[in-house]
Amino acid sequence: MKRFRFIAALALALTVSLSLSAKPKIRIIATGGTIAGVSATSASSAYTAGQVGIQTLIDAVPQILQLADISGEQLVNIGSQDMNDEVWLKLAKRINQLLNEEGYDGVVITHGTDTMEETAYFLNLTVKSDKPVILAGSMRPSNAISADGPANLYNAVAAAVSPACKGMGVLCCMNNQLLDAKTVIKTHTIDCDTFEGGPSGIIGYIYNGEAFILQTPNNKHTINSEFDVTKLDRLPKVGIVYGYANCSPLPMQAFVDARFDGIVLAGVGDGNFYKDVFEVAEKAQASGIQIVRSSRCPTGPTCLNSEVDDAKYHFVAALNLNPQKARVLLMLALTKTHDWQEIQKFFMEY
Ligand code: GLU
Repeated sequence: MKRFRFIAALALALTVSLSLSAKPKIRIIATGGTIAGVSATSASSAYTAGQVGIQTLIDAVPQILQLADISGEQLVNIGSQDMNDEVWLKLAKRINQLLNEEGYDGVVITHGTDTMEETAYFLNLTVKSDKPVILAGSMRPSNAISADGPANLYNAVAAAVSPACKGMGVLCCMNNQLLDAKTVIKTHTIDCDTFEGGPSGIIGYIYNGEAFILQTPNNKHTINSEFDVTKLDRLPKVGIVYGYANCSPLPMQAFVDARFDGIVLAGVGDGNFYKDVFEVAEKAQASGIQIVRSSRCPTGPTCLNSEVDDAKYHFVAALNLNPQKARVLLMLALTKTHDWQEIQKFFMEY
């Protein structure tokens, strides 16, 4: 009996010391983008996104092997202008599998910067884990002078292994900063310092391979999100219509004719429509196509029942979501309900 206890204690001590010394298990899922892009010459601005594979990305930053037990997989290899619902669904399902079934401690996704904010927000609502999920990309291709991809990847892995990044929802890690999926926006077409956290600012930053958190996102996300894509193989169809002076109603009419499930307006000012567009929107809403009012203004909320009487028309106000993120939330909302008041509630909570 004594001998048995001794062996059991030894086995326990060994397991504890092994698990203490084991590095966190991090999976990098590569999807393409400029971080995997190659230009004709190292000084050229002409390049093609999504050229090099996951192993080349990992090999370019051997320092990440000191931070974590790293493995990678290539989901797709595209410029993120070609990101679509099918890849989003695959990505969300794969991350849930890695974190909830395969024992990974965190996931890093390499991604083009053009639509990174949309993918981040989609994952923020559909990943069912509080473990770190970090998106990273770059503005300069992999063979550019002073490429920003390697440092962004290193920082993303540093964030993924950090206990400070647990429970923060999905984050983007670019240019030493950590940005919240809900508020992050790409603001500049070519600068490395392109991502901003909106009026609330950044969530934190990475310095010397360590994550420092400045604030916590206060919207519902990940484990508190009620959206579940496990059984979905397609998403409701939602389009965006851009507002401007003398705006043509034709794009909105085209979405109506194609029987889209929802339409987001990137309206002028506080989510206002041009009168001809308003007429189409009113009829569309009455026919069961959900209209969400957002704004083409880069900052400020689209307020409920302000110049537009949403309660009368059953429109939904996007509040603090920009049009592209309002589209993501509307797609997921329509998987649960077609009740405009319920949908408005989602826009208040997420
Ligand atoms: N269009 C590319 C993409 O989004 C370039 C942007 C980038 O990755 O920086 O994949």
